[in-house]
Amino acid sequence: VLSVHDLTRTYDTAAGGLTVLRGVNLDVRPGEIVGLIGPSGSGKSSLLHAAGLLEHPTSGEVRIDGEAVGGLPERARTHIRLARIGFVYQFHHLLPEFDARDNVALPLRIAGHALGAARARAEELLVALGLADRLTHQPSQLSGGERQRVAVARALANRPRLLLADEPTGNLDPATSQTVFEALHDLAKKSGVAALIATHNMELAGHMDRVFALKDGHLEERPAESQAY
Ligand code: ATP
Ligand code: MG
Repeated sequence: VLSVHDLTRTYDTAAGGLTVLRGVNLDVRPGEIVGLIGPSGSGKSSLLHAAGLLEHPTSGEVRIDGEAVGGLPERARTHIRLARIGFVYQFHHLLPEFDARDNVALPLRIAGHALGAARARAEELLVALGLADRLTHQPSQLSGGERQRVAVARALANRPRLLLADEPTGNLDPATSQTVFEALHDLAKKSGVAALIATHNMELAGHMDRVFALKDGHLEERPAESQAY
């Protein structure tokens, strides 16, 4: 689904160019959950943003379902992003004036689905994530872990081919992290989505199919100690 080839990313800073990715190669296949680890500042978000078509890499290629997306016009990139990619941000980015169900329904509404159908799909996902009794709560009425589960539901609403998650449990306590991750893991496996998940949580990384560490701008695969749920 996702194929990243020889990707580099250099930022212009007052102190000159800062290169955070130096020739990164990565493939994520359907149904596979891949972890991305590395210290703060190692470039995890930079890689996810390039893979999610939120930013342009400095050089190298990103392919989604075999299609090179780098040279596409912005409209086409936006379309691919909305139709085929789900993104979970470290901080949930839910809309405060919408309840949980309508936050999840939003991408479906943007894609042209009727309100009733969009809400039905949203409910189905929220129920699967254990939020059956939180459908009409607004984000301010939800706990951090509940908000992140809503964000996971929203990212999966459109049945994306690719799920990108940037420290989806980064600001949660260990028990809540575990709950959110298990829910994400279950749903991802059921839907067959290809998932790339940045995390600082080594315990969670141990439950992923493959894990890569970013170090000095390069990806190194970690030996598998994968224990599926
Ligand atoms: P964290 O674990 O803290 O989220 P990260 O691995 O996600 O870190 P990135 O956000 O990808 O790291 O950042 C990598 C490096 O690039 C950091 O040193 C950061 O300061 C720098 N950087 C990121 N975005 C920009 C930008 N827009 N302009 C300049 N430098 C940037
Ligand atoms: Mg980051």
